[in-house]
Amino acid sequence: MTRRRWIADTHNATHASLTGAQAQHLARVLRAGPSQVFDVVAGGHLHRAEIVSVADSEVIFLLHEEMLADPALPLHLLLAVFKFDRYEWAIEKATELGVQRITPVLARRTEKHLAQSSMKRVERWRRIAHEAAQQSRRSDVPTIDDPLSLKLALEQTTASNKVLLAETEEENSLASILTANQGAETALAIGPEGGWTQDEMALFTAQEWHFVTLGPRILRAETAAIAALAIASALL
Ligand code: SAM
Repeated sequence: MTRRRWIADTHNATHASLTGAQAQHLARVLRAGPSQVFDVVAGGHLHRAEIVSVADSEVIFLLHEEMLADPALPLHLLLAVFKFDRYEWAIEKATELGVQRITPVLARRTEKHLAQSSMKRVERWRRIAHEAAQQSRRSDVPTIDDPLSLKLALEQTTASNKVLLAETEEENSLASILTANQGAETALAIGPEGGWTQDEMALFTAQEWHFVTLGPRILRAETAAIAALAIASALL
């Protein structure tokens, strides 16, 4: 039986709690009650769990046995900031596809007003990732970093396999680079709507990123992100 899965807001060794909107939804919409059993992720561990008390402000679970859970894929997406409605869509889909970390990048061609308001958007992006993780039955929530300049984002990239999705590349494919680096943690960088500037491309080259193509067509940034993650998740 597939049980609905929740990601706990707080937990200790024996109990976990949902608070805020999650608690309200369980209490008012689902009319959950004591002794009902759900799957609950607490501190990255997946448990069968039984409700012990329900209030609009907090639902408390007793944690039962731990179950096997799939870890996130070792994928770090560096995604230049673009129009927020499509950016939110990309965060949701990337979470469903198993991404581990997303760094919003303030690229030279990210529109000024988007760059300025992006810091205020991060909490919303984190909520979207939380909901998408729960809905897609993940046992973890991807990390959404604070927005960073490209220089800082590159400095904070720890993956050994670093891949730049570039519409100017004609030969190397994403699949070939991933196959040659099986098992390695991989960073994927996607540019803004206007693409990366020459200076930004030079930064990637200096830090030995592999340039790869997704084919001859120019894709919108969010399409490129989802296509790249789908290919990577199939190969990893
Ligand atoms: N500079 C381009 C232009 O205006 O012609 C468009 C940039 S594209 C909309 C945004 C990002 O998607 C690019 O920076 C790149 O990372 C990625 N991208 C789009 N099409 C791609 C392709 N065919 N192969 C690899 N990456 C692609």
